[in-house]
Amino acid sequence: MDDPNTPPNRSHGRKAIRPSLKPRELMDPTPELVRVWKAQVITLLPEAFPGILGLSLTGRALKDGLWQLETVPLRQFGEGKHRNVDDTPAGGGAGMVLRPDVMAAAIDDARTRIAPSAPLIYLSPRGRPMTQNMARSLATGPGMTLICGRFEGLDQRVIDHYNMVEVSLGDFVLTGGEIAAQSLIDATVRLLPGVLGNEASTEEESFSDGLLEHPQYTRPAEWRGMEIPSVLMSGHHGEIAKWRRSQSEELTRNRRPDLWSAHRARNKSD
Ligand code: SAH
Repeated sequence: MDDPNTPPNRSHGRKAIRPSLKPRELMDPTPELVRVWKAQVITLLPEAFPGILGLSLTGRALKDGLWQLETVPLRQFGEGKHRNVDDTPAGGGAGMVLRPDVMAAAIDDARTRIAPSAPLIYLSPRGRPMTQNMARSLATGPGMTLICGRFEGLDQRVIDHYNMVEVSLGDFVLTGGEIAAQSLIDATVRLLPGVLGNEASTEEESFSDGLLEHPQYTRPAEWRGMEIPSVLMSGHHGEIAKWRRSQSEELTRNRRPDLWSAHRARNKSD
C-alpha cells in the first residue's frame, strides 16, 4: 500500500467517464456528469473548495449541474506512512518542493476522469497572466485540470514531462495556487451557457472588445450633490451607446495604455 505508484483506495469510489448514463447510474445521487464542463483541482487543501465558487451564481450553476467540480487530494498520493508529498530543494535553500512522483500519481489518476483534450494547467507566478480571452477559450472546451502548488512549488521535471500550461494570477506571490485556481474557474464558469441570468451582460463588460467598461450609475438620481450624467437619463439609446463607448475608450487610454494600443492595432487591421 505504501508503494508510491499505487494510489490508496478511496473511501468513496469515483465513476469513470462513460459515453452515456446507464439506468443504474441515473439513480446514483452524484453521477459523473457526462459532457458537462468540468474543473478538476489537484490540491493539498481540498477543503478550500468549492469555497466562494459554491456561492451565488457559480454555486447555483454547480447545484444545477451546469458545471462540475472535482478535487483531487494530493495527500492521498503521498509516500509512506506519513503520506509525504514534498522534500528539500536540490542544491539547497529555503522551503520545500513538491515531489514529481507524487504529483504524477495524482495527475495520472485525475486524467482518467476528464476528456483528454482538457488542458493541464499549473497555477504559477511564472505563467502567462490570466486574461478574458483565456477564460473564453477554456469555456468552449470540455474543462480543465488545475494544479495548485504549495511551498516552493513543483519539481521542474513534472512540469516539463506533462508539458503543463503555466498560468499566473498576476505579478505577486501567493502562498498556494488555490486562490488563483478559484479565480480562473470563476472567470470561465460565468461564461458557460446559462450560468449568468442575463446573457447580454458578458458582451458589454470590461475586455469584451479589448476595452475597459464605462462607468455605471443607479438610483438615487442625486447623491451627495452628484447627479447621474444627464445623457443616461435622456432615453436616447443611440446617444447613450455613443457616450458609453467614448467613456470606455477614454478610461482605457488613460489607465491601460497596453490595452489601448492593442485595441487600436486590431481595429486598424480590420
Ligand atoms: N517559489 C515560487 C513561488 C511559490 S508560491 C516562485 O518564486 O516562483 C507557492 C505556490 O503558489 C506556487 O507553486 C503556485 O502554485 C502558487 N502561486 C503563487 N503565486 C501565484 C500567482 N501569482 N499566480 C498563480 N499561482 C501562484
